[in-house]
Amino acid sequence: MLNPGKIIRNTFAAILLLTLAACATQPTAPAPATRLYVFNCGAIDVLDISVFQPGIGKGEHKTLTDSCYLVVHPKGTLMWDAGLPDALAQKPEGVTFMNTFVLRVTRTLASQLQQIGYAPDKITYLGISHMHGDHIGNAGLFPQATLLMQKEEYAAAFGPEPGKYGFDPAGYPTLRANPVKQLEGDYDVFGDGTVVIKRMVGHTPGHQALFVKLRNTGNILLSGDLAHYTDNWLHKRVPSFNFDKAQSIKSMEEAEQFIKANHAVLWIQHDLEQNAGIKHVPAYYD
Ligand SMILES: [Zn+2]
Repeated sequence: MLNPGKIIRNTFAAILLLTLAACATQPTAPAPATRLYVFNCGAIDVLDISVFQPGIGKGEHKTLTDSCYLVVHPKGTLMWDAGLPDALAQKPEGVTFMNTFVLRVTRTLASQLQQIGYAPDKITYLGISHMHGDHIGNAGLFPQATLLMQKEEYAAAFGPEPGKYGFDPAGYPTLRANPVKQLEGDYDVFGDGTVVIKRMVGHTPGHQALFVKLRNTGNILLSGDLAHYTDNWLHKRVPSFNFDKAQSIKSMEEAEQFIKANHAVLWIQHDLEQNAGIKHVPAYYD
């Protein structure tokens, strides 16, 4: 006699065995590789480079680039810095700031994100190296992203005297509404050691850099403004407007040790010449 209950149990057991057998014989697919995209987030013509290297090159011009980045990890996405504001693209001649800097944007960050198919309002994390205007210009594109910032930087940016640190809240009107994780040191963003925020203060009270481990490319440290160009990095020069000169030098020395110990390369975010040799979107590093 047919026993429906038994048939169902036996069928279920057979399906379970087949599933287990399939799992045992199929090799586990490797996790997709982490990707790093590099964006051109503007340019800065410095009319007197001695601001960045006190006592040297008074009155000389130098052009800096402004880079920002997207890290795509199997567990989420991290936007690293947000560049100069896209609105500058409407003024091709540039905008002069503090009589020393001419700021320009030739390609908006929004259009570059669209080109590679990432909607800004779907980005998981927004990591800001520091709160100067050339790093948070498009922060408003990422209202849902969890802000990852050192707690001193957050306190300075939203405290009573942001101007004391060179911060202008008019440049980040929406940021206070973002979800935030205030950091007190290094932070392993996805928990597997491949994307790590490094606390490297001095340029500002809570300045940070970003370490990224890529399967094929190797290890990279994104500088934030630890240094603005190679010559200053090599000579450990500190711009006149840094928050803490001694701490800036200490952070550069620590970064140098870290780079050596981790066989990493330093990508200096503002270095025009170095960036000319780095692939930008739609290409990526993995
Ligand atoms: Zn900067």
